[in-house]
Amino acid sequence: MNEQQREQLIKMSKYDESDEDIVYYDVIDKRLSGSIVKKAQQLVDHDCIQYVRGIGLFGSKYGFVCLPLNDEEKIFFKGIEFTKLPYERNYNKRSIPYYLFQNNDGMWECNCQGWQTKKKQGLLNNKMPNCKHHLALLKYFKHKHKS
Ligand SMILES: [Zn+2]
Repeated sequence: MNEQQREQLIKMSKYDESDEDIVYYDVIDKRLSGSIVKKAQQLVDHDCIQYVRGIGLFGSKYGFVCLPLNDEEKIFFKGIEFTKLPYERNYNKRSIPYYLFQNNDGMWECNCQGWQTKKKQGLLNNKMPNCKHHLALLKYFKHKHKS
């Protein structure tokens, strides 16, 4: 992803680059349990969040994969080889990445069970991350913005 695409993505996401939103992230972090926040940070630190386009999942043109936190360096998904940093142990038993994409409402949606269950039950909160993959994505945007 080039600089322009990245800027565009950040603009398109609900959580833009204003100072207010950065404070808001911190508010989110404090409200979520420490372990979820730490795990989301580990996902970002190990390059588990990666931009991907054209894999045709859920009708989206592009999205982000959330690679599993495990000791692998390469993960194959939909014919694409992703490289990440190996984690010290296999935290995730599941070896298939999750996928985050913008749905018709412009919300980032995750295909994990947690998100999808909340969706079915009408419990999605559009002011907070609804799963740790989503939180990791927001941390990724924030991190990319800083670097
Ligand atoms: Zn998720």
